[in-house]
Amino acid sequence: MNTTIRSQNQTPLWGWQALMLGLLLSLPSTNQAGLMDYRDAAELGDTLANLAAQSRHAQLFTIGYSTDYHTDPRQPTHYPIYALRISESTNERIPDDPRKNSILFEAGMHPREWLATESCLMLAEYLVEHAEDELSNVPSLLRGADVWIIPLTTVAGRVLDDLQGGDPRHYYPHNGGWRGNGDTRECDDGVNVARNFSSGWDHATDALGLEYRGFAPFCTEEAVALRNFVQNHSISMAVVIHANAQKIWNSWGDNDITGSYFSGWKHRFSSKENRSE
Ligand SMILES: [Zn+2]
Repeated sequence: MNTTIRSQNQTPLWGWQALMLGLLLSLPSTNQAGLMDYRDAAELGDTLANLAAQSRHAQLFTIGYSTDYHTDPRQPTHYPIYALRISESTNERIPDDPRKNSILFEAGMHPREWLATESCLMLAEYLVEHAEDELSNVPSLLRGADVWIIPLTTVAGRVLDDLQGGDPRHYYPHNGGWRGNGDTRECDDGVNVARNFSSGWDHATDALGLEYRGFAPFCTEEAVALRNFVQNHSISMAVVIHANAQKIWNSWGDNDITGSYFSGWKHRFSSKENRSE
C-alpha cells in the first residue's frame, strides 16, 4: 500500500501515542477461563453498526467482500469488509473530507491474528465514546484528522479460523490457524493477502502454502478492496497492524512511553495461545 504523508495540518505523533496509551489502559473483558473474549466476525459487524447508529461521529461503509470458497465451493459465502469513519462531524454529505488529514488503521489481513482486529475494535470504541469528551484528547485529535478503521480485512479467513465465537482456545487446527483468505480454488490454504500487493510481489513465493502470493498481484478481492479504498480517499497515513505470535511490534519505538506500555501490557492482551506466524 502506498502511504503518503501530507505536510500540512499534520497531527503530532505524540497525540496518537497518548491515545493508544489510553486505549491500553481500558482492559478487555475476560471469559470464565480468564481468557480474553474476542469478537467473532458477526459480533464485529454488530459492534461497528452499533457505533455508527449511536454516534454522529461514526459512519459505517462496506468497501468490498471477502469470500469463503472452502466451506462449500459450490455455494461460496460472501462477507462484507467494513470500514468505519470516525470524525469530528459526519454531517457533511460526502464521506470524506479532503480539507483534513485522514489516518487509516487496518488489521486482520492475516485472519488468525485476532489480537490485531480486537485492538482496532477497541480503538474504534474508545474514539467514538470519547469524541466529545474534552477531558480526553480525542476531540482535539479529531479536529486535526479523520480516522478510518478497517478492523478485519480478510473476513472469510477469520470465519474459517474462529471455530467457537471468538473463544481463543478453538481455532483452525492446522498450521497454527487460518492465515490466507477464503479463496481455496487454487491453493488449499487460500492466498496470503499481505503477499498479494504489487509492491514486493516479485519477491513473494509462488509456492502453494501459507505464504502463497496468488497468481497475480491484486488477484484477491481483499487486496483490491484496500487498494480501491486508499485510492479513493484522502489517506495521509496508514497503520497496518499485525500480531505475529500474538505480540504487538511497536514500530514507533519500544523505548518511548507508548512502547513501554505495549511491552508491559502485552501479556494481558496475549491470553490467546501463542501461535507463531
Ligand atoms: Zn500478519
